[in-house]
Amino acid sequence: MTDELVRRTAAHTARAIADGEVSAVETTQAHLDRIGSVDGRVHAFLHVNADGALAAARTVDDRRAAGERLGPLAGVPLALKDVIATKGLPTTCGSRILEGWVPPYDATVAARLRAAGVVILGKTNMDEFAMGSSTEHSAFGPTHNPWDLSRIPGGSGGGSAAAVAAFEAPVAVGTDTGGSIRQPAAVTGTVGVKPTYGGVSRYGLVALASSLDQAGPCARTVLDAALVHATIAGHDPLDTTSIEAPVPAVVAAAEAADVRGMRLGVVRQFAGEGYQPGVEARFREAVELLEGVGATVVEVDCPHFTYALPAYYLILPSECSSNLARFDAMRYGLRVGDDGTASAEEVMAATREAGFGAEAKRRIILGTYALSSGYYDAYYGQAQKVRTLIQRDFAAAFEQADVLVSPTTPTTAFRLGERVDDPMAMYLADLCTIPSNLAGNASMSLPCGLAAEDGLPVGFQVIAPPMADDRLYRVGGALEAALSDRWGHLLIDEAPDLVTATAGEPS
Ligand code: GLN
Repeated sequence: MTDELVRRTAAHTARAIADGEVSAVETTQAHLDRIGSVDGRVHAFLHVNADGALAAARTVDDRRAAGERLGPLAGVPLALKDVIATKGLPTTCGSRILEGWVPPYDATVAARLRAAGVVILGKTNMDEFAMGSSTEHSAFGPTHNPWDLSRIPGGSGGGSAAAVAAFEAPVAVGTDTGGSIRQPAAVTGTVGVKPTYGGVSRYGLVALASSLDQAGPCARTVLDAALVHATIAGHDPLDTTSIEAPVPAVVAAAEAADVRGMRLGVVRQFAGEGYQPGVEARFREAVELLEGVGATVVEVDCPHFTYALPAYYLILPSECSSNLARFDAMRYGLRVGDDGTASAEEVMAATREAGFGAEAKRRIILGTYALSSGYYDAYYGQAQKVRTLIQRDFAAAFEQADVLVSPTTPTTAFRLGERVDDPMAMYLADLCTIPSNLAGNASMSLPCGLAAEDGLPVGFQVIAPPMADDRLYRVGGALEAALSDRWGHLLIDEAPDLVTATAGEPS
């Protein structure tokens, strides 16, 4: 029974709880048991909220017993990336500098999930302050990819994606600044969505780069992602960049799953050198499948996308060097060298030296340099101009196509340790995801098969104009349906059974 309960989708789970077929407490316990049996090897969670989860589940069961009509996610267990502030639950951002910090408030997304009766199972592992593409920059050890435990689960939200792929949680919420929801989704065979910038409140997300950060869902199906998206999205007066407009009809779009008459633009720049042949092959097949169910396909040119990665690696460090200045040993978490005689500056320096890992330090230094007087125009200013050119490329492409499509990431999951000492190689994992963050678009990754060379999941990316998030779900729903018809099941059902399997197990 436990196995059957953890394999259900969020939509199925919520329906079963509302119908009284199973209780929220039983469902939650099944997921806690699953975490107990597989997370020692996956390491998706930094903190498991067993008592809190069971208490939240009990509340849902009581509400049902009292005759209340439950919402579409009531009683559904969910994993939260550890960058999202949760009242009473530790929030470390994968960093020693926040070890022991328990926020006194909930992020808006956490508050909305709780209000919807969602059961928060715990906080998931991530690259420190969301900088990375492999979760190896976590101060608390890496997460392993459930498809092959010797491989990376993507990053920075590798913990959330691995939890969903390992059936430890049906759904998760993460953040995406340059690809941290979509790239982990791609390499773990899950669905990940970066909503339109301003579509989901950033209040209570620990900021990496404020002009790029956006929270969104990770799930095993397109409909489940839509249910979470609809729950967390919508205007929030606590976030000044929050858009005051109705939430796009993402659930209806996922259910319609209809691409008839839609124009798909294949981005010419996201192919060729550096792309794994098996990734390109699966991507092209998926485009053909969508054509077969009624979409038209055009090729589009986005000539400035070549400069997206360098522009991002000036804008992100600049913003993060400023955002991370708040970790000053006085306000949160760690405090080192405070022996009663040291000055505030000495304590601050000792704390930041001990508390930040190498990647965080690299970006703080890069960003401080890019913003410094005399260099500002040449680096940060120039990168902002490139950002405008990328936005113009998108605007022109969206005149020819309703959505743009590409592989989510140039390769499948690489091996743990393979790129950790080579920042450039690590950064290239986000080649196709970064332009959407720079432009504020909506973007989704969903599985489109396994690469022939290594049998690992390949991600298909769909990009829509700002506030047209529903188009992602139309295309995602249609592709998921066409592929499931072909295979007779979802791709994730092919993931190894971690309870018995030892494939790829590190010795
Ligand atoms: N991998 C990218 C980076 O390291 C994206 C991070 C993110 O989206 N948080 O910056």
